Amino acid sequence: MKSVWLLLVALAAAAFSASAWTQGLDFARIEVATEQVAPNLYMLSGTAGLDPAHEDAAGGRIGVLAGPDGILMVDAQYGELADKVLAAIRRISSGPIRFLVNTHIHRDHTAGNAKFAKLGATIFAREELREGMSRARTVNGIPAPASDPAAIPVVTYGMGEPVKIHLNGEIVDLIPIRAAHTGGDTTIRFENANAIMIGDYYRNFGYPYIDIANGGSLRGMLEALDATMKLARADTRLIPGHGTIIKRTDLVPYRDMIFAIQGKVQQLIAQGKTREDVLAAHVTSAYDSAVPGGLLPAAGGGTSADRFISEVYQELKGGAK
Ligand SMILES: [Zn+2]
Repeated sequence: MKSVWLLLVALAAAAFSASAWTQGLDFARIEVATEQVAPNLYMLSGTAGLDPAHEDAAGGRIGVLAGPDGILMVDAQYGELADKVLAAIRRISSGPIRFLVNTHIHRDHTAGNAKFAKLGATIFAREELREGMSRARTVNGIPAPASDPAAIPVVTYGMGEPVKIHLNGEIVDLIPIRAAHTGGDTTIRFENANAIMIGDYYRNFGYPYIDIANGGSLRGMLEALDATMKLARADTRLIPGHGTIIKRTDLVPYRDMIFAIQGKVQQLIAQGKTREDVLAAHVTSAYDSAVPGGLLPAAGGGTSADRFISEVYQELKGGAK
C-alpha cells in the first residue's frame, strides 16, 4: 500500500512540476460519472487519477436535483468539462436547468458557470463570491482569467437566514457559512433527500485547505464543522466537494485532528519557531497514514500537509480573525 502511495506521490509530483495546475489536466481523458443518492438527487464526479490537485476525482463534485419543475445544480466543475457535465445531466433529465448554486469560488466549482447561465440557469451565491469573481484575483496561487460576465452570480446573499428554493417537492436550503474554506462558502441542504453538500471545508482526500487569500479562516472552518454537526441528523449523507460521502460522526475525528495540529503549531509559535521550523517539525505525522493524499503536492506548492500547516501558522501568527 505504501509503495502505491509513493508511486502516486512521484507521479503527481512529475505532473505538478511539468506544468501549472490548470494546464496539467488532460481534459479529453476526464469523463463525468453519475451516482444517484436519492430518488431525484444525483452526484456527478470526474475520473479519478487525472487531476493532480484532486487525485480522488477530477475537479469538484456537482449535485443535480431533477424533476418536473426543472433542474437545480450545485457547482459547475472546470469549464473545460462543461459539455461533458451537460451530457451527464441530459442523461438524467431533459428539463430546463433553472438554478445553479456555487458552494465557493474555486474554479473547479465555478469555471463552468457561464455555460449553464447561457442555457438559462440563474446563479446563486454569497456576495463575497460575486465580489471575488468580479475583480482580478489569484486562485490557488495562480492568476485567474477574467470571468465571462455570464459566470457571475445574479442572486446573492449574506450571513443571514438560509435562502430556500422550493423545487420538485424538495426544499433546498442555501446556508451561508462564515469564512471557512473561503470567505464565501455556502452549505446546501436537501431537506427531504436528507443530504447536505458541504463544499470544501471538509475533505477526506488531502489535509484541510484554508484559502486565506480568498477569505478562508481556521476559526471559521472549526465553526463550520460544528454548525454542520448540528445541522445533520445521524443518518444524513454529507457530500464533500472532494472525497467520499460521509456521516456526521466522521466530522468528529476531522475536527479533533484540526484542533490537535492547531495546538502543536501554537506550541511551536510560543517557542519562537519560524514557519520553516514548524514545517520541519512534521506536526501532521501522526495523521499522515490516515489521510489519503495528505503527502501529495497541493495547489500553491508543497504537500497538502505543508499547505495546511502553513495556513494554520499564518492564521495563529497573525492573530485570530
Ligand atoms: Zn475549493
